[in-house]
Amino acid sequence: MQHVIPVDQIGPNGAEMAHAIEQCVHCGFCLPACPTYVTLGEEMDSPRGRIFLMKSALEGSIDTESTLPFVDRCLGCMACVTACPSGVQYGELLVPYRARAEKERTRSRTQKLARALVRRTLPWPARFRAAAVAGRLAAPLRPLLPAPLPAMLALLPSHLPPAAALPAVYPAEGKRLARVALLAGCVQQVLAPGINQATLRVLARNGIEVVIPRGQGCCGSLMLHNGDAEAARDLARANLHAFPQDVDAIITNAAGCGSGMKEYGLLFKGEPEEEEARAFAGRVRDVTEFLAHFAVDPPPLPAPLKLAYHDACHLAHAQGITEAPRRLLGAIPNLTVVEIPEGELCCGSAGTYNLEQPELAAQIGARKAQNILRSGAQAVAAGNIGCIVQIRATLERLGKPLPILHTIEVLDRAYRGVSIAG
Ligand code: SF4
Ligand code: SF4
Repeated sequence: MQHVIPVDQIGPNGAEMAHAIEQCVHCGFCLPACPTYVTLGEEMDSPRGRIFLMKSALEGSIDTESTLPFVDRCLGCMACVTACPSGVQYGELLVPYRARAEKERTRSRTQKLARALVRRTLPWPARFRAAAVAGRLAAPLRPLLPAPLPAMLALLPSHLPPAAALPAVYPAEGKRLARVALLAGCVQQVLAPGINQATLRVLARNGIEVVIPRGQGCCGSLMLHNGDAEAARDLARANLHAFPQDVDAIITNAAGCGSGMKEYGLLFKGEPEEEEARAFAGRVRDVTEFLAHFAVDPPPLPAPLKLAYHDACHLAHAQGITEAPRRLLGAIPNLTVVEIPEGELCCGSAGTYNLEQPELAAQIGARKAQNILRSGAQAVAAGNIGCIVQIRATLERLGKPLPILHTIEVLDRAYRGVSIAG
């Protein structure tokens, strides 16, 4: 196929980037689904506008630097992919474009320091825990600190839950029906270690043995979405080596990690590990995606409860998983799943977006929180730690806190007869 942009000169993902650009027919159906367009009302802050900008830069008719403010404001939420009738795979353009642009851009000293801090702490639970403890002590200095540190501190909970060690193997209860390997995650292990504990209990209860491979680490999504494909590959490589092949699935309970690992084929395109990475990606399942094939059969809640299910973008838009979590939650007698108005819009978390674009993230987050309150729900469930932290912080800022749990924690509490509404 004859491409308009110089495919051979723009790196190993050139063909996918060109394909995404050429598929776009400029219809604009994606515009109402785009949180930045809905908030800012600017064409260049819409998917269509960004595709045009990236195309122009790749063709050489504008310089990359001039596209960056608009590309940086993109949440990478992929709501435009779900909305697009032409099947434009926007992520296959955005992710390599960011990696390419990162090499050309100039960043201020403060930006470099802040980014280095994020990149050197968040992917490693022990470092992140130490940084979070130091961050709480530094809270009174918040107004004096450079961006994005105040935004980071604002998202930290008032106290950190104690670390919870994970066993090497968590056996199935009763007859073993399946055996899976769990990605333990990074940020989540510090901010909400209970999610992994709930995952182990719920999987075991359904006859699923879980191994937690030693030597695993961050999935690399954080680096990839920040445009550092090499650092992402280094992290991903450790997981390619650490995870066993003799399991039925590689399970993740964080939507951002799941979508990142399902993209390992794209990440390793042209690298010696490409085939291995594609095979790995093919075995990755979100915990709800895997569990929905089992007869979960939870007991009824002691009292009726209205629970809003929030579609994490990296679950709904990036992985197309919307039914499985609703089916699992809907299986709990006495629990009614309510829909959130404008549910397709991102909550503003989007990896480190709420750290890098705190004002816009706060506006997008406030819209989500208002929509949740409008649903009349007594509690909220979501399948991604970033969304959980962002929604909790936004509801608290509005003075309307609600319990917000991971989907798997809701199931776990139902099994254990523990209250969901707090
Ligand atoms: S909906 Fe798809 S084809 Fe239409 S403008 Fe958006 S990305 Fe392009
Ligand atoms: S990924 Fe999200 S923020 Fe970015 S253009 Fe698409 S809908 Fe808009």
